[in-house]
Amino acid sequence: METKKKDIRALTKEQLRDFFVAQGDKAFRGNQVYEWLWQKSAHSFEAMTNISKETRQMLKDNFVINHIRVDQMQRSSDGTIKNAVRLHDGLVVESVLIPTETRTTACVSSQVGCSLDCRFCATARLKRMRNLNPDEIYDQVVAIDNESRLYFDRPLSNIVFMGMGEPLMNYNNVLQAIDKITSPEGLGMSPKRITLSTSGVPKMIRKMADEEVKFKLAVSLHSAIDEVRTSIMPFNATFPLKDLREALEYWYSKTKNRITYEYVVWQGINDTQEAVDALVKFCKFAPSKVNLIEYNPIDDGEFQQASEVAIKMYQDTLERNGITVTVRRSRGKDIDAACGQLANKQ
Ligand code: SF4
Repeated sequence: METKKKDIRALTKEQLRDFFVAQGDKAFRGNQVYEWLWQKSAHSFEAMTNISKETRQMLKDNFVINHIRVDQMQRSSDGTIKNAVRLHDGLVVESVLIPTETRTTACVSSQVGCSLDCRFCATARLKRMRNLNPDEIYDQVVAIDNESRLYFDRPLSNIVFMGMGEPLMNYNNVLQAIDKITSPEGLGMSPKRITLSTSGVPKMIRKMADEEVKFKLAVSLHSAIDEVRTSIMPFNATFPLKDLREALEYWYSKTKNRITYEYVVWQGINDTQEAVDALVKFCKFAPSKVNLIEYNPIDDGEFQQASEVAIKMYQDTLERNGITVTVRRSRGKDIDAACGQLANKQ
């Protein structure tokens, strides 16, 4: 019976070096293989051309490289690309390339499905099947970087963890992936170009603050009134706004990085003056800015984008109170690649 081979990318560089020493080879060989696995993103041992044939065979006998495969790539009329990404166990997640005039942003997934149950989100309908491994997150970024070079003639410039899943419910793997993305031994990207977007898990926000991470933080807020937020994001009953607010104040005190609040205005839910006043108050606890995001209705139409008048009310009130606000039009709507629409539909 064949024993299950280990995913070689689950090993640290040190462990790889030790493996080669245990094989009677030089520790340095571990560095070479590590470079192939991460910096050069090799999909197979055969690709490692500066490693001898015998060593490549030995690696093949002992390990696998569980590389992702882009099964389907859809292109939107606005240039957005959505990848259906097949994982080694057959499960599928989605990631999105969002181009602007000057930048390419990758929106990546952190879980298959999601641990949380936001009522307006298509991914929530899938439930969480499993967390993604660090290499599976890393591979999504590499795939989009390659697409950006191929179709837009420039490298990837930004990454947002805003695809499928709640990144803070897969904390260790997401942080390991970010380590690899920012390391000179990986993609060497600046952490300032990475934004982790969370629905707000206070304990984990504190943990990130304690670890003095260098990437940016965005919180999907959608309401600064507990009752309303709980009705659309049921986990808010467990992590109420007071806990979230305190965790964010702590984040700012430690990192001095301002927070972005992602906010959708829905008809009949949070399109009132009371709602915007509560948001203004919430924004004053720590330096922050607000992204008002256009909503893309999912199947049942329960949630509908608020009127332009309501959006303008938000914009004006926030600006009057000295809070930076941006209105974000959605991209990739025609291929179900827009915010909250990722649900493996194809
Ligand atoms: S909005 Fe984000 S956290 Fe909420 S269910 Fe969807 S993927 Fe999960």
